[in-house]
Amino acid sequence: MNSPLLDVVDVAVSPDHYIGGLRVASAETFDLFSPIDQKPLGRIAEGTAEHVDAAIRAALQAFPAWSAMTAAERKPYLDRFAQEIGKRADAFCALESTDAGVLLSRMRHGVVPRAMLNITWFAQHALTLQDRPMDTDQAHHIVRHDAAGVVVVITPWNAPLMLSTWKLGPALAAGNTCILKPPEWAPLTCSLLADAAHAAGLPPGVFNVVQGSGANTGAKLVSDPRIARVSFTGSVTTAKWIAQAAGANLVPCSLELGGKSPFIVLEDADLDNAAATGALMYRNAGQVCLAGTRFLVHEKVAEKFIAAMRGYVEKLNVGDPRDEATEVGPIIHPRQVDRVMGFIDRAKADGAQVLWGGARHAYGAQYIQPTMVTHLEQDDEIVQNEVFGPVLTLQTFSDDEQAVQMANGTDYGLGGVCYGETRHATEVAQRVRTGFIWVNSFGIRDLAAPFGGIKRSGVGREGGDWSFEFFCDVKDVVVPK
Ligand code: NAD
Repeated sequence: MNSPLLDVVDVAVSPDHYIGGLRVASAETFDLFSPIDQKPLGRIAEGTAEHVDAAIRAALQAFPAWSAMTAAERKPYLDRFAQEIGKRADAFCALESTDAGVLLSRMRHGVVPRAMLNITWFAQHALTLQDRPMDTDQAHHIVRHDAAGVVVVITPWNAPLMLSTWKLGPALAAGNTCILKPPEWAPLTCSLLADAAHAAGLPPGVFNVVQGSGANTGAKLVSDPRIARVSFTGSVTTAKWIAQAAGANLVPCSLELGGKSPFIVLEDADLDNAAATGALMYRNAGQVCLAGTRFLVHEKVAEKFIAAMRGYVEKLNVGDPRDEATEVGPIIHPRQVDRVMGFIDRAKADGAQVLWGGARHAYGAQYIQPTMVTHLEQDDEIVQNEVFGPVLTLQTFSDDEQAVQMANGTDYGLGGVCYGETRHATEVAQRVRTGFIWVNSFGIRDLAAPFGGIKRSGVGREGGDWSFEFFCDVKDVVVPK
């Protein structure tokens, strides 16, 4: 039986699971609130053992027919899926800016078009996955990329639509069937994704959504021996737990985790450009995994850089993310507000200096001022740990060697930014130990390029062929000459 649809900012959205092509209600539900004004948005289904089992059975049942199709046969389904996402663009924007606090402008111009591309690009790229013949002295090899089976996709609240489609696109295009476990603090766009898949005519069981908490529903999904892969984006703590649970069944996991990425400003940097980009790190209230959050600035230009960046930060528009002009929105959850403020308060108590911000923002209960903290040691917790809020740190260095050493001086290794004369900045960037780094730019992403972190920031790579390597069983059929 279906639950009544929720009415969220005039968008009708189901609070139920989507299993085997049907909406499935749950006797157990949880409350959802908007981070903007703490308004209750409704009650969402909690996935029990029974729902997890039903979803896995539906996905297993759909697998033989879906995986037996060629990539060319699957492509029209996926193209329609993307079209159906496009038809619901306004609803996706309204829902995610309301339940996750993602900026409406970012949803409209970035996330929704990218979600569509995540599906169509991989549907197209899968055509290159056809058998790849290889000749050696002794034999003909037919290298096949076979779908792995049932894939569990688990995503965080800061970018539910973008990250879910980033995983579902390649997983489905390669012939897997999928179960998506949305983030419990921002589950609405993932529910709408099920409507889009249904309208696109994806066969029942190919794509399923089981709502619920991580500790309950998520844990049950990743512990099940019938699944073939777990694709996870989220925190290091959860990743360690998932890797153990899935590892008990030798189920491979792709883990995209947190970051503490350096933002290096060399002596020969264009300081105004660097400062303008620096202020972008506050977008989405700093709840962006790939943001450069540790500013490392050459001591000779630090004063000028700080003045330039202060100018940009003062102009930032803090407010309701549903207003297109807003640049800094709310923090996702009251618990997260306390966590972020804790970092600031402890740093202050330890003698750090706040260059700007440092307090809650008057706009609302879940708002924190864009903050910059300086006078820090490399081993201070605010330098070492991911804050995931509008809180940046600034340290100075005297030469490239020291900059690289500081950049590499945490357990994280996700991304980075390096501003300077292009050849110089490129040389320094190559010495920074991360999965990716932008030179004189920020946020350029290409679906064909590898994406992922090293050290505590992750295991594996997504993007282009890397996604398919993960979601496929590579098989060598050897025919002697
Ligand atoms: P989280 O780890 O708390 O939760 C992520 C997801 O895992 C949620 O859907 C949650 O329900 C689920 N989960 C929690 N416990 C689970 C368990 N035991 N078994 C299975 N699933 C479980 O992370 P979060 O707070 O939602 O997200 C913020 C984190 O995500 C930050 O560290 C951020 O850097 C990271 N992140 C990384 C990337 C990237 O691409 N590297 C992108 C976005 C966010």
